[in-house]
Amino acid sequence: MAITCDVAVLGGGTGGYIAAIRAAQLGKEVVIIEQDKLGGTCLHRGCIPSKALLRSAELYAQMKDSASYGIETSGLSLVFPKVQERKQAIVDQLHKGVQYLMKKNKITVIQGKGRVIGPSIFSPKSGAVAVELNDGEMETVVPANLIIATGSRPRSLPGLVPNGERILSSDEALLLEDLPESMIIVGGGVIGVEWASLLQDFGVNVTVVEAAGQLLPAEDEEVARELQKHLHKRGIKVLTGVKVLPDTYAVMDGQVHISAQQGDQTIELQGDKLLISIGRQANVENIGLENTDIALSNGFIRVNEHMQTTEPHIYAIGDCIGGLQLAHAASHEGLVAVHHIAEEELHYDENQVPRCVYSRPEVASIGLSEKEARAKGHEVMIGKAPFSVIGKALVHGDKEGFVKIVTDAKSQDILGVQMIGNHVTELINQTAMAAVLDATPWELGQVAFAHPSLSEIVGEAALVVDGRNINF
Ligand code: FAD
Repeated sequence: MAITCDVAVLGGGTGGYIAAIRAAQLGKEVVIIEQDKLGGTCLHRGCIPSKALLRSAELYAQMKDSASYGIETSGLSLVFPKVQERKQAIVDQLHKGVQYLMKKNKITVIQGKGRVIGPSIFSPKSGAVAVELNDGEMETVVPANLIIATGSRPRSLPGLVPNGERILSSDEALLLEDLPESMIIVGGGVIGVEWASLLQDFGVNVTVVEAAGQLLPAEDEEVARELQKHLHKRGIKVLTGVKVLPDTYAVMDGQVHISAQQGDQTIELQGDKLLISIGRQANVENIGLENTDIALSNGFIRVNEHMQTTEPHIYAIGDCIGGLQLAHAASHEGLVAVHHIAEEELHYDENQVPRCVYSRPEVASIGLSEKEARAKGHEVMIGKAPFSVIGKALVHGDKEGFVKIVTDAKSQDILGVQMIGNHVTELINQTAMAAVLDATPWELGQVAFAHPSLSEIVGEAALVVDGRNINF
């Protein structure tokens, strides 16, 4: 007997489980189908475990530098298995929390691998889903509306398939039992930079190889230059404009060897392990899309502004539709989808969504960079303030970096914000809120920011736009 419901969600990652909760809150009968663990990539292989490792790494680095704060330590040692234990305890606690939320919201959880089997006699409009349960049995779910939230997986290079031994993706790197002495990181995007930062803080020799002309190719050039400068100062070797040549990969004398191309020169790289972080591809295979009229675009499911696929009763959200590929983007897309199902509108603008890198220093941004804004024809005004004039930054020992606000000169709309410095992944949310509330930089600058606080830099950068900055 098939299970019928108002909304079925295929995939219980951040996008999927949050969509399921909101759908239940809107009075829908909801089924969520998950083949592995609720919480998905973000909770088990992404945001949370990586940030737990980054926190231990940062603390270790700070303690090594404690003498500069007047605190002498001795006998400092890193016990990596304990670091991993702490990470797992945090993940487990949050996993229990997600399971509890499913119960609390009376959401039916089906553990198994789902596949759309096309319009059914029960529900000719939406796709019915056949589920191969984890115990081997089969189940059919027939929803009035289906939300596909199957996420993504690491991309690999031809011949460089992660094997958990010498070649790793972020999935395998999170499970390392011991730290290698050296690591070559292929790809200097968000994941590559975070891993470079944490491994170097743990004492690993790191080389990052990025094919584009800058680290974080999607971010502001000035921020990327500043980041590269700080990573270099920390002893991380960063090679930009350099492409690894996968077919030169070899293991000799217990070391990975690989060549890379820089212009017309060939560079030889050597390390204990190789981490591939060149982006993520959508999980769109084996989920029955061939039984629907759903269209793909560059390997991702194509959706409209309501997250509807080309089959109006089938929605798709999160990493499988591409775009920002961030947990909070996935969950917001999920909210947009369920509100549309409930015939309500929900405002969502990708330009107001924070993009964060949790390296040391951190990087955070919303919207357009200065260059992108100019390329779109805006006449821009820039408000830029350095952390070196902010008292709390000096107190913290974090005087590096800056905040840059890009404003449209005519409308005074905030078009984008770029930040680099420690704790900017917290500060960016203030500017995201200002953008959502349609505040101008002048209005943002009128906030009486607590003194001393790092947030003062946001007000200061906002005042620079009108030439009324006070502290420099
Ligand atoms: P996922 O979280 O991938 O969930 C998809 C779920 O669908 C999975 O649980 C999967 O098992 C299930 N599934 C797939 N196919 C089927 C099927 N056929 N049947 C049943 N179930 C299925 N984002 C941030 O915002 N901040 C960060 O700090 C951050 N750090 C990251 C660090 C790393 C190392 C990585 C890899 C990612 C990070 N991300 C971060 C990205 C974030 O994890 C993803 O954007 C987010 O998880 C996407 O959510 P999702 O719901 O679309 O997909």
